[in-house]
Amino acid sequence: MEEQVQVINRLRATFRSGVTIPEQFRRSQLIKLMAMIKDNEEQILKALHTDLSKPKFEAVLAEIDMVINELHYAITNLSSWMQPQYVDKNLATKLDECFVRREPLGLVLIIGPWNYPLQLLLVPLVAAVAAGNCVILKPSEISAATDALIAELLPKYLSQDCYAVVSGGAEETAALLKNRFDHIFYTGSQAVARLVLQAASVHLTPVTLELGGKCPCFIDDRVDVAAAARRLAWSKYYNAGQSCVAPDFLLCSAATRDALLPALRETLQEFYTQEPQKCADMSRIVSPRHWTRLMDLLKKTSGKVVIGGESDQDDKYIAPTVVVEVAEDDALMKEEIFGPILPIITVESVTEGIEFMNRQEKPLALYVFSDSSSVVKQFLEKTSSGGFCSNDGIIHMSLPSLPFGGVGASGWGSYHGRWGFETFSHQRACMLRGWALERLNGLRYPPYSENKLSWLRWTASPKSCALM
Ligand code: NAD
Repeated sequence: MEEQVQVINRLRATFRSGVTIPEQFRRSQLIKLMAMIKDNEEQILKALHTDLSKPKFEAVLAEIDMVINELHYAITNLSSWMQPQYVDKNLATKLDECFVRREPLGLVLIIGPWNYPLQLLLVPLVAAVAAGNCVILKPSEISAATDALIAELLPKYLSQDCYAVVSGGAEETAALLKNRFDHIFYTGSQAVARLVLQAASVHLTPVTLELGGKCPCFIDDRVDVAAAARRLAWSKYYNAGQSCVAPDFLLCSAATRDALLPALRETLQEFYTQEPQKCADMSRIVSPRHWTRLMDLLKKTSGKVVIGGESDQDDKYIAPTVVVEVAEDDALMKEEIFGPILPIITVESVTEGIEFMNRQEKPLALYVFSDSSSVVKQFLEKTSSGGFCSNDGIIHMSLPSLPFGGVGASGWGSYHGRWGFETFSHQRACMLRGWALERLNGLRYPPYSENKLSWLRWTASPKSCALM
């Protein structure tokens, strides 16, 4: 097997050869990636089922189609994204060609997590390929079946000189991170993000961090409770709650909580039957370690389990669960839950809800369910989060024209669509000058004078542009 350093040197040499620069090359690789997904859909579904018991429906929507839609969007827009962007000029630069040129960064490393192991590795890959980079992919070892499948398929479809998969866990990733990359794109936990940042600081490598946190959801008194229960349950229990943008906890008044609980019970029966463990639409917890962490949280909570709570260690199963009477300092509120457990905390007003959210780290997504546009607007204006969605959960991240990423502790930078292309590109400021207007240029040369200075200040001011 090729050593990590050999893979890195080989890909770096390819990048220097310039082969990834032409639009035609990038487009052809994106088309091949599309073929890889389409030709192997059954195998992909099987791997995702092995890793997470992911239902076909969820795997198609949130993994396969997310990648295919990104590919379509990138292939359609690649040409316009690659065009130089001409910028405003002043009198002193009027005859120059002034533009921003998007250039590939070089060799980039993409490190993926296990919860959407295909989407969260390949959507960044689409952006990196579109931007003309060489790429090393490091899938999560925890979603082992998907990791193995991507490692097997990618070299069969994409240029092996430009793109490689390096598999492994913490040790192999730490070894990989000792090397110099031109960009690191990391999706995963905040704890590992700190290690990634430390490693990147040695080479001053720029880093995009796609992290998690506790995404809050406020449900207002003015809401259609049945519809809110359906949208909330869908976004919370999708992938058994193992989504970085899943609503982590709920804030609402005691009256809304009391109206919501029967609606949630009914919805969960409708979605997953009376025996969710036997329902094929309910995913499993990814590993025994992750199952134990979630069950420990349930053991430690001082709240009251009012829906679900059943579990089966051998099956890595936890029922869709709702916990009420949860205090702000409860065990369930100390870390991202990342599983099918929903704590409900009561707040008595919109203002209290906003203040509660603002005491937490800035989340990856923030949700408000309300019939009142003024309530939605208040949350939008008085809080901060990576993304915002009213009257639904998760769904905002399916639109490739919106940037996807966190703010503060939930992440740095963004991707999807053009935003990903920009993340994996260097915006090079270019000014192509000729030899004209030397008299005007001469104003800046010594010997200096007050007269020259005032002319020069005028030619360089934005106002001089308006006169042209
Ligand atoms: P993780 O940080 O444990 O693992 C992510 C990657 O880091 C894996 O490829 C893993 O092999 C590698 N890794 C693990 N330990 C390492 C170490 N000590 N040194 C170097 N590399 C190491 O994250 P996870 O458990 O796979 O994912 C869950 C977290 O990711 C949650 O916090 C979730 O919110 C977040 N997440 C964020 C997004 C997003 O788009 N913002 C998406 C999915 C998940």
